[in-house]
Amino acid sequence: MAFHLLERDRVGAQRLAHVLGSALEKMRRCRLCRSLSEAEVCTLCASQKRDRSLLCVVETPADVAAVEAAGGYRGLYFVLGGHLSPLDGIGPGDIGLDELDARLAQGEVAEVILATNPTVEGEATAHYLAETLRQRPLKLTRIAHGVPLGGELEYVDGGTLAHAMAGRKPV
Ligand SMILES: [Zn+2]
Repeated sequence: MAFHLLERDRVGAQRLAHVLGSALEKMRRCRLCRSLSEAEVCTLCASQKRDRSLLCVVETPADVAAVEAAGGYRGLYFVLGGHLSPLDGIGPGDIGLDELDARLAQGEVAEVILATNPTVEGEATAHYLAETLRQRPLKLTRIAHGVPLGGELEYVDGGTLAHAMAGRKPV
């Protein structure tokens, strides 16, 4: 990309540099959901149209964008900013769990959707969160994992297929 911009699009490169510079200056973490925002509270958290009883817990601001792009979800988010990873020295204190606790203590949230990635660390983080939040009077759910739409069972990897079988639901 750098070569392309330098050789063929110097004006575009200048614009990109300016936009990145201004993003670096203005972007910070939303006080409520820890996603990226120019204001103290991001537009999603400030919106009156969102369902405040639903809280979707994700690993990164990019995950918020992905769920929003998929459409259909009308609740709010909480961004951990990573996942538990004892080998890298990332413990519960590093992924905003105190802030999540404070948020849930307000009593507005009725359901927490654990939408961490279906990786070993993401699953471990979801499991840890489920254990810590179990005492609260909340509905706890985990996003489903399984066969992709348009996929064929024959080509799906064993781990995914096992997850899909374990997470089957009545029809
Ligand atoms: Zn926010």
